[in-house]
Amino acid sequence: STPSAGGMPLHTKMLIGFVIGTVAGLAANFYVADAGWLDSLITYVTDPVGQVFLRLLFMLVIPLVFSALVLGVVEIGDPASLGRIGLKTLLWILAVTTMAVLIGLLAVNLFQPGRGIDPEVAQSLLAASSDRATEIAGAREGVSGIQILLNIVPRNPVDAAARGDLIAVMFFALMFGIAATALRTPGTRSFVAAVQGVYDICLKLIGWVIALAPYAVAALLFSITARLGMDVLVQLARFVGTVIAALGFHFFIVIPILLWVFGRMSPLTFFRGAQPALLTAFSTSSSSATLPTTLKVTEENLGVPRRVARFVCTLGATANMNGTALFEGITVLFLAQFFGVELGMGQQVLILLLCILGGVGAAGVPGGSLPVIAMILAMFGIPPEGIGLILGVDRLLDMCRTVVNIGGDMAGSVVIGRSEPADVAGVDMDAALADVDV
Ligand code: ASP
Repeated sequence: STPSAGGMPLHTKMLIGFVIGTVAGLAANFYVADAGWLDSLITYVTDPVGQVFLRLLFMLVIPLVFSALVLGVVEIGDPASLGRIGLKTLLWILAVTTMAVLIGLLAVNLFQPGRGIDPEVAQSLLAASSDRATEIAGAREGVSGIQILLNIVPRNPVDAAARGDLIAVMFFALMFGIAATALRTPGTRSFVAAVQGVYDICLKLIGWVIALAPYAVAALLFSITARLGMDVLVQLARFVGTVIAALGFHFFIVIPILLWVFGRMSPLTFFRGAQPALLTAFSTSSSSATLPTTLKVTEENLGVPRRVARFVCTLGATANMNGTALFEGITVLFLAQFFGVELGMGQQVLILLLCILGGVGAAGVPGGSLPVIAMILAMFGIPPEGIGLILGVDRLLDMCRTVVNIGGDMAGSVVIGRSEPADVAGVDMDAALADVDV
């Protein structure tokens, strides 16, 4: 069992960790800012605790993203009878996730929630771990223009993984999935089964790592507030506001318009029918845990044919994450602003791409997007320690973005369901889907 098993829910513990770390850090900043022992405390205790947590997250990124993407592609392309629905689902995922990330990027450029703290001061957060500082300085060089696009194709996937070049790994995984789908030999089938095993193991590990989060949150927040003081909290409030505003815009404006135009369903009917699943998503913060409810209400309340609902919602629970992708974009740019890392147009376009794929690569569990965000940050020379800043408020944002993730899945199945000819009985589809595990 995980450390969270003992009584108190994990998110309550995280909140407590947040409050303890912040209050202690602020007090230290206020009363003993110049004391030598405070420096030692940060350098030898709170920084390392936070670092271990971040390292554990990093540790999982490559196997997780690789397995999630291969499985995503295989599920879309398999079996042959699902090809057309698969293609429509793919289009929906790409189009709507792109809109979501664009909304996020626009919001963060508009509100500039990360500006306000002197970047020099913010960067002092890094001083403690000099290896990270050099690593980050290295990552910041030499990414510009056409090179960014070229770098999507790795010369050597192992090298790309070793350097933490996420987008190159994603490209490799996509190609791998496509080829595995095209072949469908016994050999590729057992490979896919093995990849499923890797994915399941990663999910288990994430659960364990996230169980450490309360301690990491306390430690990271202590380090941050002891160094930066009160200003950080103002910054954080602006970040939360930006995320919620952008999620709200996507959920209450963009999705209803798409539903109305392409699914001929009124927003009222949709939200009323979808409500049980949305509430489940809100309270569990997990798309995977919500899946059974999602399937039930999509079929029963929204009248989507079973074969469409099963396919779109099952796949969508892990691959279609509008809220998560939007959140990833905002978080990355927010922390870039916070640490004074300037990102050009080309780099923002790359972040857009990464977040779209990041929505596919994130796991549908609480905090599932955190490893992906940590990795994107490192790629752009933005200190991943910044994750510590947002972790304390992450549960609330996680609840909200999971609602948007699930809402996007259900809206997608309504739209795709309406576009399918009614006379296709779907007998063989049901047979084909019989072994899909819900
Ligand atoms: N909790 C989210 C989900 O399950 C994933 C994330 O953004 O962390 O949909």
